[in-house]
Amino acid sequence: MIDGKTNILGVIGDPIEHTFSPAMQNAGLQSLGLNYVYLPFHVKGNRLSDAIGGAKGLGIKGLNVTIPHKSNVIPFLDDIDPIARMIGAVNTIKFDYGDGEVFTKGFNTDAYGCLRAIEEKTSIKDKKVTILGAGGASRAIAFQMACSGIDELSILNRNYEKAKSLKEELRSNLNKQEYDFNNVNAYEIDDLKRVLDSSDILIDTTPIGMYPNVNDKPIASADMMHEDLVVNDIVYTPMETSLIKEAKKANAEVVYGYKMLLYQGIRSFEIWLGKEAPVNIMEKALLDVLGI
Ligand code: NAP
Repeated sequence: MIDGKTNILGVIGDPIEHTFSPAMQNAGLQSLGLNYVYLPFHVKGNRLSDAIGGAKGLGIKGLNVTIPHKSNVIPFLDDIDPIARMIGAVNTIKFDYGDGEVFTKGFNTDAYGCLRAIEEKTSIKDKKVTILGAGGASRAIAFQMACSGIDELSILNRNYEKAKSLKEELRSNLNKQEYDFNNVNAYEIDDLKRVLDSSDILIDTTPIGMYPNVNDKPIASADMMHEDLVVNDIVYTPMETSLIKEAKKANAEVVYGYKMLLYQGIRSFEIWLGKEAPVNIMEKALLDVLGI
């Protein structure tokens, strides 16, 4: 029931009509009986400054930020979490109000979502992690992993130069931030089998196998995997991607792509509300809205 005391959370993006977040977040808020509502806001690029100023004026308590605003929103915020700053993208803003002042802090919960999804199956501490792809999602996950206690990070990409430059960026930024990690390497795709032989975790960040191209062959096939490997495909439509099928053939442990989406939302909820999110309820709402 919306009344005079209802607090507002939301998501800004362009386009915004396909967002899954309202279904997931409102289910969580309602199940805990919190007087909050989570709304979608269609914000064009040239209105981003107005949107953040407007949110402050209206007393909005938190926002998710999606494409195309994740990097452009950074200059409008008072503080940025160190990992989000290194990634160069924010998907969650917390607004704190006090004494007429508003303080805004930005976080990146996307890559944290991937980490937490994997940690449902295995601890990432001291693990050897291999990432396929070197685009936006890879970059965020690579920084998050590198700052989270893994032993080794290997990046492989179709365009090797992109993998190499991501590796170099990780090394130089992690040194500047004093994160004690520089065991990151870039390899050619042809090296995948050899790299996987000594890996504990594979995260595929390429869009291969994503609907409607569900029969496209993944880069990693069952014969390259071993039983102790944890395989995470971050594609979530369909749930059983061609890579997940290969992983099951190899008796490897699988982590579905929707879990990253779930846990980025769970983390945002926790940042805004300062309390544990109802994971099962939010997961059910997300699966319902995804139709899987
Ligand atoms: P991106 O920036 O465009 O990067 C895509 C990467 O995949 C690039 O490194 C590209 O290699 C590689 N790639 C694309 N097609 C390929 C192919 N046919 N063969 C080999 N490599 C290929 O995209 P992104 O933003 O990182 O997103 C990637 C995927 O992650 C999308 O499917 C997206 O839906 C999914 N995603 C999921 C979540 C989640 O919550 N589960 C969150 C974010 C993104 P080159 O550099 O050689 O072109």
